[in-house]
Amino acid sequence: MTESVLVVPGDGIGREVVPAAVEVLEAVVDLEFHEADAGDRVKRETGEALPAETYRRASEADATLFGAAGETAADVVLPLREAVGSFANVRPARAYPGVDALRPETDLVFVRENTEGVYAGIESEVADGVTTLTRVVTDEASRRIAEFGFDYAADNGYDDVTVAHKANVMRTTDGRFLDGVAAVAEERGADYEPALMDSLATDLVMRPGEHGVVICPNLAGDVLSDLAAGLVGGLGLLPSANVGAEGGLFEPVHGSAPDIAGEGVANPAATVLSAAMLLEHLGEASAAARVRTAVEGVLADGPRTPDLGGDASTAAVTEAILARL
Ligand code: ATP
Repeated sequence: MTESVLVVPGDGIGREVVPAAVEVLEAVVDLEFHEADAGDRVKRETGEALPAETYRRASEADATLFGAAGETAADVVLPLREAVGSFANVRPARAYPGVDALRPETDLVFVRENTEGVYAGIESEVADGVTTLTRVVTDEASRRIAEFGFDYAADNGYDDVTVAHKANVMRTTDGRFLDGVAAVAEERGADYEPALMDSLATDLVMRPGEHGVVICPNLAGDVLSDLAAGLVGGLGLLPSANVGAEGGLFEPVHGSAPDIAGEGVANPAATVLSAAMLLEHLGEASAAARVRTAVEGVLADGPRTPDLGGDASTAAVTEAILARL
């Protein structure tokens, strides 16, 4: 049976890079595409950033390819991740030959817990001028992300597993997180290095080659993966997969980039590489490898978009990727 992919371009450059990634997918496999709306634009028109229909279709699709949402990002991405049953956000940050990277030895994969932490959405204004945020950390989710992270490292040939935390300050919540990770590591006889997330930020910049898979609580994974984008040449290169259950949501790490939206110069690589992760999720490993090889070839030889020092358009880079397939 042909697998169904829901396509949600969203806002800003999402509307430019998602169609590029769909063209690439169409060139390598037979999939059934459906399109749905989400984001600022649809909120202006209907009052809702994530229409119930989009949520339902994401929960039913075999995979969803998402672009970006602007101001409404939290109202769109968090429920969409929930719709597909995801608990793990996988964000590879690799340097590519030909791309000017601060740290060419970088080959990191952030495995970020996706359902709780400070992104659980429990915020309140308890008195005039006084606000609070509740951080949720459960044993179940901590063990689940640890299992996923150790499996990912073993399946993908990474020897180093680092676990980011701040248990010296957030003793109860990150203490719980670390206990969950330690229990899973002991059950499996797996090695890992716990690292305070602030000093880890320095270490990732100074010595990225000493890290491989980095298992993170939600906020730390968000921040550290953007930091790693800076090591490899920018946000235009980082794909991501929200997985864990049967469905999956695949999206670039970058947002809607309002500063360049509409100019036709967004780098499509992050979204095309997210589409490659989608193919892998659907069991199309060889098609995924073809897409990655094509993207790597274009990154090495050009054409390149302005974020990578070139002057090519999104369309020209997409054409070059298609030509290599
Ligand atoms: P949002 O609020 O939607 O997250 P933002 O501008 O705060 O938007 P990003 O969209 O992630 O955050 O963009 C951060 C910077 O990186 C911007 O200068 C943007 O132009 C640049 N950028 C992000 N993605 C790309 C891309 N695919 N190609 C080129 N530049 C990009």
